[in-house]
Amino acid sequence: MVIKPKIRGFICTTAHPLGCAENVKIQVEYAKANPIKGAPKRVLVIGSSTGYGLACRIAAAFCCEADTIGVFFEREASSNRTATAGWYNNREFERLAKDSGRIAESINGDAFADDVKQETIRLIKGKLPGGKVDLIIYSLAAPKRRDPVTGGVYSSVIKPIGDAYKSKTVDFHTGIIHDVTIEPAAQDEIAGTVKVMGGEDWLLWIKAMTSAGVIEQNAVTAAFSYIGPSLTFPVYKNGTIGTAKEDLEEKAKQITSLLSTQGGKAFVAVNKALVTQASSAIPVVPLYISILYKLMKKNGTHEDCIRQMARMFKDRLYAGEIPVDEAGRIRMDDWEMQPALQEEVGRIWGEVTNETVGELTDIDGYRDDFMRLFGFGFPDIDYDADVKII
Ligand code: NAD
Repeated sequence: MVIKPKIRGFICTTAHPLGCAENVKIQVEYAKANPIKGAPKRVLVIGSSTGYGLACRIAAAFCCEADTIGVFFEREASSNRTATAGWYNNREFERLAKDSGRIAESINGDAFADDVKQETIRLIKGKLPGGKVDLIIYSLAAPKRRDPVTGGVYSSVIKPIGDAYKSKTVDFHTGIIHDVTIEPAAQDEIAGTVKVMGGEDWLLWIKAMTSAGVIEQNAVTAAFSYIGPSLTFPVYKNGTIGTAKEDLEEKAKQITSLLSTQGGKAFVAVNKALVTQASSAIPVVPLYISILYKLMKKNGTHEDCIRQMARMFKDRLYAGEIPVDEAGRIRMDDWEMQPALQEEVGRIWGEVTNETVGELTDIDGYRDDFMRLFGFGFPDIDYDADVKII
């Protein structure tokens, strides 16, 4: 089949198997060139097929030579429909990891479900040396969650709380800047977002794993958050998703006390804004990221997922005492949040128009990154060639 991108708003409904493999290979090459000593050797990544989770798994396997288990929720190909990008990403990751002599086991299923937790525990016991893990990365970004006890289904929404929020955003396909108004969330939408994107499921994973005895002494677990600039506070930090992230921080404390008898610790890492399937769905964010990237690329501080996760492993998680902020969080957004840089972002945000968006922002880079998430736009891939989708 010849595969072309089919864009529907902020998702692409097709994925290119060779392009996705290329995306993984590029990250693996970077990781191999940046080895990390004293790092974990047995790693579980929950949400391991795209974005930050995939980058963590690649950093673990190829910076640290770790054996890994990955959990994700992706669609396989059918006779006339490509698989999702994450499915192809995972296939290539497993191939490269096994070629390098690493154990790499994956579970494609609903991480919120008890049976997937139990299946993961069985894999850890059966496949990993010593039947335990040293590091657990929790990197889910999900639209829905079925509560394993009540069976109720909850949805996450990205909305402000209290008042409607009016701002500008960019359609990154056309480059047209337009106003967007987002109505405030209802109470049940706030609660639903906390259920899906808060820390309850992370805590359930650690409880299940602790009971099963599959967490090594002094193990670390980390989940990801975002804070960002005041520009995006109404829709992010002070909105539904920010409320869920507060819950994540609360649950990190509960997990740390759960693990304390065996010397383990839980951290929330605040990451940089990156183009992923999850972040491109947030209104306002694509314009902010386009401005940010223009400036960070100019001053040499821009990082993609793999660069940032490799730095997190090397300079934070495995650098001796883990450096944290006043609230106990790991800050990987330190370069993004530099005051002079943010001041410049704010200035450009105020003046950018449809006429200047190409020159003042990295809108082309945003679009390229977005297409690459689905395996499109890699120079060495022949996109007119027939490829096997299964
Ligand atoms: P992503 O969409 O690229 O990846 C999400 C992962 O979760 C995928 O592997 C997907 O298969 C998996 N997943 C989703 N639902 C699942 C389910 N029910 N069961 C099993 N797996 C499931 O997302 P991302 O942008 O890498 O985000 C990961 C985390 O990082 C999120 O908590 C997000 O809030 C946070 N974060 C993202 C950014 C950013 O700018 N992208 C910045 C800071 C923090």
